[in-house]
Amino acid sequence: MSKNYFKTYPDKDGFFKEYGGAFIPPHLEVEMKKINEAYYSISKSHKFISELRSIRKHFQGRPTPVFHCNRLSNKYGGQIYLKREDLNHTGAHKLNHCMGEALLAKYMGKKKLIAETGAGQHGVALATAAAYFGLKCEIHMGEVDIAKEFPNVQRMNILGATVIPVTHGLKTLKEAVDSAFEAYLKDPITTLYCIGSVVGPHPFPMMVRDFQRVVGIEAKEQFFEMTGELPDNVVACIGGGSNAMGIFSAFMEHEECTLYGIEPAGKSFKTGEHAATMTLGKPGVIHGFKCYTLQDDEGNPAPVHSVASGLDYPGVGPEHSMLKDLKKVTYDSINDKETIDAFFELSRLEGIIPALESAHAVAYAFKLAKKNPKQSILVNLSGRGDKDLDYVVDTFGLPD
Ligand SMILES: *Cc1c(COP(=O)(O)O)cnc(C)c1O
Repeated sequence: MSKNYFKTYPDKDGFFKEYGGAFIPPHLEVEMKKINEAYYSISKSHKFISELRSIRKHFQGRPTPVFHCNRLSNKYGGQIYLKREDLNHTGAHKLNHCMGEALLAKYMGKKKLIAETGAGQHGVALATAAAYFGLKCEIHMGEVDIAKEFPNVQRMNILGATVIPVTHGLKTLKEAVDSAFEAYLKDPITTLYCIGSVVGPHPFPMMVRDFQRVVGIEAKEQFFEMTGELPDNVVACIGGGSNAMGIFSAFMEHEECTLYGIEPAGKSFKTGEHAATMTLGKPGVIHGFKCYTLQDDEGNPAPVHSVASGLDYPGVGPEHSMLKDLKKVTYDSINDKETIDAFFELSRLEGIIPALESAHAVAYAFKLAKKNPKQSILVNLSGRGDKDLDYVVDTFGLPD
């Protein structure tokens, strides 16, 4: 892949080959064009760049470290490394794009941020960004997720955000996206809709990717400093795909690095209790953009399941959809049980409790390490597991 990759994709209409774009009502299209134009001019300005840099360092605590897992490497083979996004302020990579989006909102003169959230991580990150900049914040969240991730609801409340419960359908992420979109449409002038991943209509997949690139830029430099080489394998979990795009972006031009995006295989492929969009889905339009998607017979987004709330989305970023077709990234899946095993394994062997989302990538790293004991593996540890403790112990108990 050439260095021009980031200038080539997306094209000016937001397409990554056939994926992406903006399939939205005309009045929303006008708003997206305004956001796109503002992003193009503002994000290149020295003032914006230096303010974001300062925020990364002094507020978020970046750079986050890369850590070599000694005990895991001894047990599974390979050399396993983690990019510690769990140590980013608020405990996940999501603050990287939320601070960028909120900074853009400030420069555009907006007064309020609106978003959906699944596990509550995006909501907490955005509420944090809103508090930092003194903006209002409204977060739409499915009732099922509210019950499952209640500490995050309290965090949002404490940070001054308004949490709107979504009570229709499956009451999870998909319905929350619809609800947030509707609220945004009522007042697109003074609010900015902040999407939580590399999904949604153009320019969001591009903007969120750009704001996440800091993860890959840091990780490549840090890994090289530690080992004098680049990693043989880079692994990240995929919900919408933002943490994966963040880390992959720095390694895409290096043919010697193999990239793996890991989706949730959930409980069972047979019963449909999974969210393996790339493995089992087909191209379609969802939430205003084209991507691989899981649909029912009528073409509606299918109900999905994952033990990790942040991964149960029936679509995926358009850039990932393209990278799958180009065979630039290998997409594979990890099920709930393998995820829970990896969750405890990383906790007990290295003293790091991972988010259930990130544990998917960790589980896959174990498989790769066993298969390729001489190779190095860099995992993007997208978040910490504090939010999942009650759920895991109540549902699965403690291992022997
Ligand atoms: C939200 C979330 C994810 C999934 O989102 P992506 O956009 O695919 O990165 C992964 N890990 C954590 C910790 C999350 O909070």
